[in-house]
Amino acid sequence: EPAIAFKDVQKVYDSGTIGLKDINLEIQKGEFIAVVGLSGAGKSTLLRSINKMHDITSGDILIDGKSIVNYKSKKLRALRRNIGMIFQNFNLVKQRTVQRNVLNGRVGFYPTWKSVLGLFSKADKNKAVESLKTVNLLDKLYTRTDQLSGGQQQRVAIARTLMQDPKIILADEPVASLDPVTSEAVMDDLKNLNEQLGITVVVNLHSVELAMKYASRIIGLRSGQLVYDQPINNVSNGD
Ligand code: ADP
Ligand code: ADP
Repeated sequence: EPAIAFKDVQKVYDSGTIGLKDINLEIQKGEFIAVVGLSGAGKSTLLRSINKMHDITSGDILIDGKSIVNYKSKKLRALRRNIGMIFQNFNLVKQRTVQRNVLNGRVGFYPTWKSVLGLFSKADKNKAVESLKTVNLLDKLYTRTDQLSGGQQQRVAIARTLMQDPKIILADEPVASLDPVTSEAVMDDLKNLNEQLGITVVVNLHSVELAMKYASRIIGLRSGQLVYDQPINNVSNGD
């Protein structure tokens, strides 16, 4: 069954603005999806619907074959634990170390009095090391986050989501504030965890060029509607 399915999804904001219109979509486990479209096309609205950061107006969304539209508290927490989110502005605690920021990926999901006070288990610390290895930033473990470049900060944010063992990662314009070279480093990390860990990735992008280079399938939105949906023959060119 698909990892993510949209069935006749509509999202109308309270203001009356149409966010999504007649969306039917199936995303299989292990796909790397790029969602492209102009500003205001509905890309963020689509992503926010997948982890139920907001409710849709009508239709149905299934994750692993289960409808999430009526999920509350406990099921909603379990859903979000399986879905990692990456944002354009990284959402890190800048004056803290990289290690602490990555460990924070644990706090939101398994809060204990110890983790809230910044006391983490050996197992958690080992996992933070593994996560940083995945994004090739282990050498920054004890560096303060505000001393890193933007691209490195985004990769710390990716390592942080790995602490929750996500099945799906949703990335909302993760490279919009980065230069082309650092953008590629961030995209390389996303591609790595897609290929090595089998995580399903859905990433909103402005750049069609990056979409073509990294995604296995491109979805295009315009005025809340799905106007394009094509697999890409992403044959690795060996670099
Ligand atoms: P856990 O260790 O949490 O039990 P499982 O591997 O059993 O994890 O998977 C939990 C659920 O997540 C299953 O229903 C499975 O279909 C789904 N799942 C597994 N891999 C992926 C993936 N790459 N993308 C989306 N969903 C996945
Ligand atoms: P994109 O991510 O492609 O830039 P969005 O999903 O953010 O597009 O926006 C789609 C449409 O919904 C736009 O017209 C936008 O102005 C509107 N919109 C987005 N968020 C809200 C909101 N919270 N309240 C009202 N309208 C919104």
